[in-house]
Amino acid sequence: MTRAWTLASRPSGVPADEDFALIDIDLPPLKEGEVRVANRWLSVDPYMRGRMNDVKSYVPPFQLGAPMDGGAIGEVVESRADALRPGDMVQHMAGWRDAAVIPAAAAQKLPALEVPPQAFLGQLGMPGMTAYFGLLAVGEAKPGDTVFVSAAAGAVGSTVVQVAKAKGMTVIGSAGGSDKCAWVRDLGADQVIDYKADEPLVKALGRAAPEGIDVYFDNVGGQHLDAAIAHAKPRGRLAICGMIDMYNTGAPTTLRYAARIIGARLKIEGFIVSDYMDRADEFYREMGALLADGRFRREETVFEGIEQTPAAFRGLFTGENRGKMLVKI
Ligand code: NDP
Repeated sequence: MTRAWTLASRPSGVPADEDFALIDIDLPPLKEGEVRVANRWLSVDPYMRGRMNDVKSYVPPFQLGAPMDGGAIGEVVESRADALRPGDMVQHMAGWRDAAVIPAAAAQKLPALEVPPQAFLGQLGMPGMTAYFGLLAVGEAKPGDTVFVSAAAGAVGSTVVQVAKAKGMTVIGSAGGSDKCAWVRDLGADQVIDYKADEPLVKALGRAAPEGIDVYFDNVGGQHLDAAIAHAKPRGRLAICGMIDMYNTGAPTTLRYAARIIGARLKIEGFIVSDYMDRADEFYREMGALLADGRFRREETVFEGIEQTPAAFRGLFTGENRGKMLVKI
């Protein structure tokens, strides 16, 4: 028997407590090639909000009443697979629950790097890979560029800030509130914008980057995207990673400066981190080296206990996290 979160109803707006239900489920006996995993860390991620709607997307929607899933780090406690032994720490997708029986092939043994296991859900995991390839491959950012990144105090954004600084770029980060902005500056950002302050974003970005930006790393969409288009240099690149501003509202974005896309020959490209899975070795090598030499700050916001998973998830939309939002079991 184990506990798993299910979606009880499809949320409208920010998910409420009643949209989730924690249920008991039986775990089947192990078949050949399977492992039993006790989860230690669960990831909550903004993209999961899209999976709560019954719409076709790049990941299938959660089914009502069925255990939800998502990134997790667990310990193998029983194995009928040669590749994994009890005690091995693995990364897998049977999150939102205490324990799971999964094929060994669906679990990735954590690489032997000198970091705590939960780092593989953050800077050394999906958000880190998103930041790394979004900035360098999609945004084609290079030393000397001026990079603007939104949600700069979050998991992806705080990694973008630090990779960009490590690669010799000028960085402008936006975040909500003075404490978060101070932290983003501590991470190395040259300029910070508090998007919750009174000044319109387009004006604040113009002041922070009087000569314009070469690259915009978009985590937010909406007014942030509009401001980036307004201030992009000719042939600027916009890497569209996420649009959290509209995940709960679905509200359309008005882009007042959209016509600049034509005149300034802007390149706007969306991407999904899985597009770069075949370059995972490069990511581990480079990011592992950056983390190992102490240049990187790794920050987590941790909710304790599986009961807290929906609250941790909701916190992503109210900005409760600094760095990676995690649930510790
Ligand atoms: P974060 O750790 O950045 O958490 C979300 C943050 O977004 C919050 O802390 C909050 O920070 C900010 N935020 C929430 N609502 C708004 C809003 N309306 N306007 C501005 N900021 C807001 O999450 P992740 O790092 O995991 O993800 C960041 C983005 O990257 C998301 O859009 C996500 O969907 C996307 N993503 C895309 C991937 C891909 O493959 N394309 C992969 C992974 C993530 P604050 O307090 O500053 O407002």
